[in-house]
Amino acid sequence: MKNLQIVTKIENFILPIRKFILSKILRRKYYRTGKCKACGKCCTKIYVKHYKHVIQDEKEFEKLKYLHRFYTYLKVIDKDETGLVFECMNLDPVTHKCKIHKTRPGICRRYPQEELFSMGGALSDDCGYQMKPIVSFEEVLHKEMKKH
Ligand code: SF4
Ligand code: SF4
Repeated sequence: MKNLQIVTKIENFILPIRKFILSKILRRKYYRTGKCKACGKCCTKIYVKHYKHVIQDEKEFEKLKYLHRFYTYLKVIDKDETGLVFECMNLDPVTHKCKIHKTRPGICRRYPQEELFSMGGALSDDCGYQMKPIVSFEEVLHKEMKKH
């Protein structure tokens, strides 16, 4: 119980510093919390956005493979109203683990980042991570109410 209190106190001390660095220095709007559950869901049902559009066409996607090795790992598994749906071939279908975990690309190491939202993406419902706004709705409301 005492250990838990110490951990909570440390977290309460670190979180405002982390929020300050993210919002004021890195100009972020969200911070990541939680832990990966290694379910592998983010390695399936992937959309690829290039500039402002989601890839719809396999021929166009073929050209992207020269731009980044991450694209060479993807295979088309479907197409829906958003665009082509990909799955990563490095995902072990039995264990749901990444077969190249130690050498996986940076985009996988940094996942999830807030760019995910700006690109129109979302976390899977049961992802172990949550992306929380650095300034909560209550804080914004409180600030606005103080002005009036
Ligand atoms: S390289 Fe690994 S972590 Fe990245 S999408 Fe593929 S399976 Fe997932
Ligand atoms: S969906 Fe979330 S919990 Fe599952 S592997 Fe991806 S980051 Fe981890």
